[in-house]
Amino acid sequence: MATQALNSTTDWQTRDTAHYLHPFTDHAALHSEGARILTHAEGIYHWDSDGNKVLDGLAGLGCVNIGYGRQELALAAQQAMSDLSFCQSFFKTSNQQAIALAEVLAEITPAGLNHAFFQSSGSEANETAIRLALHYWALEGMPGKRNVIARENAYHGSTMLTANISGIPPMAGAGSWDFEHIHHIPAPYKYLHGPDMSEEAFAATAAQWLEDKILELGPDTVAVFIAEPFQGAGGAIIPPEGYWPRVQAICKKYDVLLAVDEVVCGFGRSGHWFGSQSFDIEGMDILQMAKGLTSAYAPLSATMVSDRLANTLIEKGGEWWHGFTYSGHPMCCAVALENIRILKKEGIVEQVRKQTGPYFKDHMMALADHPLVGDVRARGLFGGIQLVKDKASRTLFGDEEPIGEQVSAAALERGLALRDIGNTNALMPPLIISKDELDFTFSVTRLALDETARTLGLL
Ligand code: PLP
Repeated sequence: MATQALNSTTDWQTRDTAHYLHPFTDHAALHSEGARILTHAEGIYHWDSDGNKVLDGLAGLGCVNIGYGRQELALAAQQAMSDLSFCQSFFKTSNQQAIALAEVLAEITPAGLNHAFFQSSGSEANETAIRLALHYWALEGMPGKRNVIARENAYHGSTMLTANISGIPPMAGAGSWDFEHIHHIPAPYKYLHGPDMSEEAFAATAAQWLEDKILELGPDTVAVFIAEPFQGAGGAIIPPEGYWPRVQAICKKYDVLLAVDEVVCGFGRSGHWFGSQSFDIEGMDILQMAKGLTSAYAPLSATMVSDRLANTLIEKGGEWWHGFTYSGHPMCCAVALENIRILKKEGIVEQVRKQTGPYFKDHMMALADHPLVGDVRARGLFGGIQLVKDKASRTLFGDEEPIGEQVSAAALERGLALRDIGNTNALMPPLIISKDELDFTFSVTRLALDETARTLGLL
């Protein structure tokens, strides 16, 4: 704080652009506009270097699930760092924090997932999932099963592999190679792909895209289908009822592994511990988590592995050439354990499912009448507001019309941070948000939509 008092925001902005390259950023725009410099945060609010208090409607990046400033997590980290600041897990060595966390994760994840592999980020959790799937099929004598199927509008990370699995075209643009084994099917995005169909009919159509792709590639060549329970960074896409049971049946029919990316959905975001439980996804082979695992107090991700895959690894043996220096980092695992303890003790997941989640959904649905809003989608404390140029014809804004950004800027001026994903604004506040704070969130969101609609002549 003392350092901040001595320096103006402009000083920090100048130093920021001088040496710090930001992720997912237009650096020309950053240089001309400067960054917001955050100084501290507490609960669901953060403050910037100009003293503005902002309700963090995006929970950091959908990750600060229990809110900011929890001293228990800081103390858990301090204790773990003092006891054992690092422990490699490669050479038949382990540590108590990683062991305890793997046990807890086996307990709280869906049945059949009893082994955890640790790394530092969601991207790495997905890398592990894909590498494990290929390794598994090789061990089982089916090395020809090497194709990966993912969905358009998926986001699975930013490493070379996960950027290409993600179904967001710029991710796999310049700065990437083509991967011949990665294939995409359309997302279950009803507003765009089946607006006039019933939920049931669209669920069947969207699931059929998976079966068609497996048959086109040949079932003996398909290793794994990777998907988020609901799609986050690709546009807040919530699948129709009936989609997931069909997808699971198709994976089973053709013996294609199912890897569920719970990086955003996990740890209460959906109103359940895992998004899988919210959509009745069971018997998955792999489940990837990060973000809410530590509420982002420490960088940690886990890839949960089913008994079927783990047994093959254990029974067939031979080194699996995969891992990271920080796999099972004791401090990160200690923070995760404390975070999970707090989530349980304070009944935070249940509160989202029974109280704030339904309240959030009512507020979201009430935005559907707005002239700028074509569709609203919500699950738990996650929602997407689809902006449209013309409601009747469902005409979307083009990439060159950053309307979502305009809505976010108008909200920020009024003390609310929103996320814009192209022409969708997403809301995913910390899970401890109260009903009063949700009232504030939605009154600001409506004002921001009104202001933007006025500039477009829609209001
Ligand atoms: N998977 C999903 C569903 C995500 O939303 C994200 C990040 O937003 C990732 C993977 C990548 O996680 P990370 O940024 O920690 O690598």
